[in-house]
Amino acid sequence: MFALFFGAPGVGKGTQAELVAQRLHAGHLSTGDAFRTAIKKQTEIGRKAQGYVDAGELVPDDVVTGIVSEALELPQFSNNIILDGFPRNLAQAKELDRLLDGGDRRITHVINIIVEQEEIVKRLLERGRKDDTIEVIRHRLTVYQEQTEPLLDYYSKADGLLHNVEGNDGIETVFGRIEQILR
Ligand code: AMP
Repeated sequence: MFALFFGAPGVGKGTQAELVAQRLHAGHLSTGDAFRTAIKKQTEIGRKAQGYVDAGELVPDDVVTGIVSEALELPQFSNNIILDGFPRNLAQAKELDRLLDGGDRRITHVINIIVEQEEIVKRLLERGRKDDTIEVIRHRLTVYQEQTEPLLDYYSKADGLLHNVEGNDGIETVFGRIEQILR
């Protein structure tokens, strides 16, 4: 399994990716978590990423793809893999294709979690992360619609790769839907 998890900010993408990783024994790479950890530790990557993450902008592609290409070499990502929050734009999707090209890995599932926008804003305000102010939330949703959503078109061109999952239910219900797709 090599699954990509998509969904607007606040649909529960990270929660579901983590659950699936635990229960289906997959390596889980969240680029957002990687940035938050790097920012907390104030590493070089953290210092580069901080302004973008705080403003709800995408971190430059070369910084992100560096993290992903290094992670994919690690033993915990040698078998089942969940990428959560990557790719986020067309350039990153093409870079991922390039990274996998020639190897024996290929993307097996694209899971797209869908929740209506009103519910998303409500959830994010409740979560209260540093980049969860109303202005930054609005901006992240716009960035998502403009840069990330077009990728669904890109992945829908491959037969049977893209799976839309209704996310407006409890964690276990949504998990059950995803599990059925992945098993
Ligand atoms: P997330 O935890 O997925 O909501 O990501 C939080 C923030 O991290 C985003 O708003 C971006 O600033 C940054 N980020 C995460 N993944 C990426 C990516 N693939 N490309 C660019 N920026 C990213």
